[in-house]
Amino acid sequence: RILLDGFTKSFGAVTVIENMKLEIKDGEMLALLGPSGCGKSTTLFAICGIHKVTGGRILFGDKDVTRIAPQERNVGVVFQSYALYPHKTVEENIAFPLQVRRLSADEISRQVNEMARLVHIEKLLGRRPAELSGGQQQRVALARALVRRPDVLLLDEPLANLDAKLRLEMRSEIRRIQLETGITAVLVTHDQVEAMSMCDRIAIMDAGRIIQIATPSEMYENPRTEFVAGFLGNPP
Ligand code: ATP
Ligand code: MG
Repeated sequence: RILLDGFTKSFGAVTVIENMKLEIKDGEMLALLGPSGCGKSTTLFAICGIHKVTGGRILFGDKDVTRIAPQERNVGVVFQSYALYPHKTVEENIAFPLQVRRLSADEISRQVNEMARLVHIEKLLGRRPAELSGGQQQRVALARALVRRPDVLLLDEPLANLDAKLRLEMRSEIRRIQLETGITAVLVTHDQVEAMSMCDRIAIMDAGRIIQIATPSEMYENPRTEFVAGFLGNPP
């Protein structure tokens, strides 16, 4: 499990998250849901190590990773912009995280092919990112994030750049891939339907705090505050 224990984050004199406690269970997909500016990305950056925390601890299992650099933490990330390497082929993009490990070319190729099958892009391995649709680029980004077999997969608004039809398709694809791999995942979104339809549990955030954390149906039937109810579109 991943644990944020007393996580606090300040930018200069401004504290945006104070003393947050959040546990992400093994194998679950958890949504961080809340309005713009509530601290979702900041929380994700603390888990992957892009931001140093101001206070508190981050644990992966029993391992304290608070002071460990992002590249030393075993995390896979997919952001809103897919940030694929434009001059590399799909195959080279997916292989990239493996190249720092001492693996044979055959082993790298085997693992890249396995990921390509998982995300259904076997036929696109020779293309470059500019020759792919948005959904296909996102599949490549997922394969690249997963190929290192991370402890946790972090997704920050991964569907925001897609049109409505593709967004629906990728919702179920990301969930399928998460269930198939059994990976622990955190999905950041401000779309309540996305959170409800894709995730095992939802942590609803407002102004740097977690207001409620529950399964989608628990939360829908039993919202703790009017803010939660309003946000889920189920006002009392
Ligand atoms: P969105 O849905 O718009 O992406 P978010 O929930 O991801 O919003 P964050 O990016 O986590 O929000 O930001 C939380 C708060 O921290 C905001 O008030 C933001 O202005 C502030 N903030 C984020 N990054 C910085 C920074 N580098 N310096 C100063 N303030 C920051
Ligand atoms: Mg954000």
